[in-house]
Amino acid sequence: MTGPVPAVTGPQPRDVRDQVRRVLDGPVPAPIVQAGHPVLRAVAEPCDGQLSAAELGALVEVMRTTMRAAPGVGLAAPQIGISLALAVVEDPGPVDPEIATARERRPLAFRVLLNPRYEAVGVDRAAFYEGCLSVHGWSAVVRRHRTVRLTATDETGAPVDEVLTGWQARIVQHETDHLNGRLYIDVAELRSLAATDGMAAVWASEPHPRTAAGILGFPLV
Ligand code: ZN
Repeated sequence: MTGPVPAVTGPQPRDVRDQVRRVLDGPVPAPIVQAGHPVLRAVAEPCDGQLSAAELGALVEVMRTTMRAAPGVGLAAPQIGISLALAVVEDPGPVDPEIATARERRPLAFRVLLNPRYEAVGVDRAAFYEGCLSVHGWSAVVRRHRTVRLTATDETGAPVDEVLTGWQARIVQHETDHLNGRLYIDVAELRSLAATDGMAAVWASEPHPRTAAGILGFPLV
């Protein structure tokens, strides 16, 4: 969710296959595009077989390396300049057991999601600090569905249909939103916005961001 990121410059190829070729011919880890780039505000093109298995495999490897290098727990294709409904996720889980319990944050094995969608299961919401590799330098509290049903296809074409809770559900919502041109700042509590090189680490170190809510003045429920 954080890390130094070089700027992406130059014209954006319009064809998604050209976008993929440019990434596959470019440096690894791939440069991560930042908020303000149009690709982050476009609805990504569905994965419909426009890439060969070899191209998809190579792209997934670039995305895996880029996500881990950042480091991040998820990366959507638009974040490396490709307007394709593809994301990778992986979460080793937190070190702090109190935070793990409060945030229902459990390890999530590396996986590939093509054309993911989610819908809320139940009405529970959870509010925690999160960040985005494409909004470098900032964190904010986002209230998200605590539990979602995820449907997608994996890299082999097998269907995905499962219910996720807690941080896993948060990651899936964040990455799927990217594929619909949405950034977490669109739905964040803006009064919670904190600079990564400032107060963000202090606020995010609390299992629940209650102190931040009280001092900065934003609701948690
Ligand atoms: Zn993001």
